Amino acid sequence: MNKAIFPGSFDPFTVGHENIVLRGLNIFDHIVIAVGINSEKKGMFSIDQKLHFIRETFKNEPRVSVETYSGLTVDYAQQIGCTHILRGLRTSADFEFERAIAQVNKQMSGLDTSFLLCIPEHTPVNSSIVRDILLHHGDASMYVPQAIREEIRQIALQR
Ligand code: ADP
Repeated sequence: MNKAIFPGSFDPFTVGHENIVLRGLNIFDHIVIAVGINSEKKGMFSIDQKLHFIRETFKNEPRVSVETYSGLTVDYAQQIGCTHILRGLRTSADFEFERAIAQVNKQMSGLDTSFLLCIPEHTPVNSSIVRDILLHHGDASMYVPQAIREEIRQIALQR
């Protein structure tokens, strides 16, 4: 079975992330979306909220599972039997950043990283812009998956 890990901070999960996973399912049998726990980086959303958003998004897709991990991505990926790492690319800046990580990951573990280019309309979508919009009570619904739009809207209203 071809099983890929899609690691990230997903603070929060966006339509860009969702699209990469959906297209990744055309390549891989199973995708584990792995939310990294980074004690030094305090995000906007708690780990439980992040997991909930992603699980809601893929609640009807048994080939996607959602987990948390800490430590090195390659260690966790090997521990759970992944054959590949999946990442999304938006721009050349993403590429430069991802290239070094993917090459080091390959050297450390033998695991290859597969990259999917985002669809053009998702190039400007990123979690930090979504956080900024929410922080200022704006409507970020078009940037988050359909399944969690209402919840995200309510969160923005309460802030
Ligand atoms: P990280 O903190 O590891 O960069 P992110 O949550 O920001 O985690 O992103 C996880 C993955 O999703 C990365 O490969 C990133 O390039 C990709 N990604 C983020 N936003 C988009 C988007 N709009 N379209 C496609 N891929 C994206």
